[in-house]
Amino acid sequence: MRKIKHSILILLILLCFCGLSHSLCAAEQFELHVLDVGQGQSVFIESDNHFMLIDGGGREASSFVVSYLKQQGVEKLDCAAVSHYDEDHMAGMIGVLKVFPCDILLVPTYEGSGELYQSLATAALSNGCVIMHGETGMEFPVGNADSEIIGPVRTDYSSDNDMSLCFKICFGDRKCLICGDAEQTSERDIVSEGVDLAADVYVVNHHGSSTSSTEGFVDAVSPSYAVISCGRDNSYGHPTMEVLQRLQNHGADIYRTDEQGTVIVYSDGQSMWFDEEPSNNGSGGTTFVSLDMEDVENNSPVSRLVPAPTESVQYVCNRSTGKFHYPNCESVNQMNEANRLNTNLDRDELIAEGYEPCGNCNP
Ligand SMILES: [Zn+2]
Ligand SMILES: [Zn+2]
Repeated sequence: MRKIKHSILILLILLCFCGLSHSLCAAEQFELHVLDVGQGQSVFIESDNHFMLIDGGGREASSFVVSYLKQQGVEKLDCAAVSHYDEDHMAGMIGVLKVFPCDILLVPTYEGSGELYQSLATAALSNGCVIMHGETGMEFPVGNADSEIIGPVRTDYSSDNDMSLCFKICFGDRKCLICGDAEQTSERDIVSEGVDLAADVYVVNHHGSSTSSTEGFVDAVSPSYAVISCGRDNSYGHPTMEVLQRLQNHGADIYRTDEQGTVIVYSDGQSMWFDEEPSNNGSGGTTFVSLDMEDVENNSPVSRLVPAPTESVQYVCNRSTGKFHYPNCESVNQMNEANRLNTNLDRDELIAEGYEPCGNCNP
């Protein structure tokens, strides 16, 4: 009798242990990375060792995106997508598809043309990708997450931004929305079609341009978090103050790649958390052109490229040309003070920030 009790006890302990280890293994995680590709967009999604990449940023971002995916342990993409054929979304994908095999490459409903598109198609086909025109209603699993195309709801827009494929990614109870460069016309149609747009994370349309994120659209999405992908001091003035304000009026915490670099959001299907604090006090693109010390103090957190005191400077960046120099480079003397940015970031960090080494002083 005692022996039986003993066995039951051991059995119970074993059961508890198995149950515990099972629940530990089953603790699934979802990650969405909005990559710092400068002016452009690239969104990487991971669930249960399955991977999706929506857009690859522009030409200059290509090698960064490739090495980022390698760092994340990607060997193959389940799904790659190009929201529309603009350079700042498509060009970086070419390099990615040269390196990583993928099951499917989703492209918008209209036909691509030109050299850039040909390179994309060639890279995809030579790496085993099936190229498919994405259509509203299509669903693709990414591990334990689901990716669904919910827009565009029409296929005859004259602007290719409005033709952007719009993805809703669901993981457990949490949802993320990524619609490329969709602008007001497409947004309005999606809303009036009654598409369920509600999402926790909204990757802001068209880099925060004032031609997108219309009131009706933002209202329908009603995001808790908004992530804006745009280049630092971009010439388009993205994001606009108007859009930042609208997002904040809807209670969204704002994250920006131009100020914070790559932004990562994690979820267990219930909670969501970021790898950093939001950038809610950032300013709009138009007023960001002449960043000086005062702006830096008022913006928290700002780009890691905060000015360094002159005596300890490693490099000097030219905010206008995007080049960086040794402090003793001839070009530094000729540099317009307004464009000059002293920094103590190292070479790799500056390159990751989108700066290029000067061809004369070769830093
Ligand atoms: Zn774009
Ligand atoms: Zn575009």
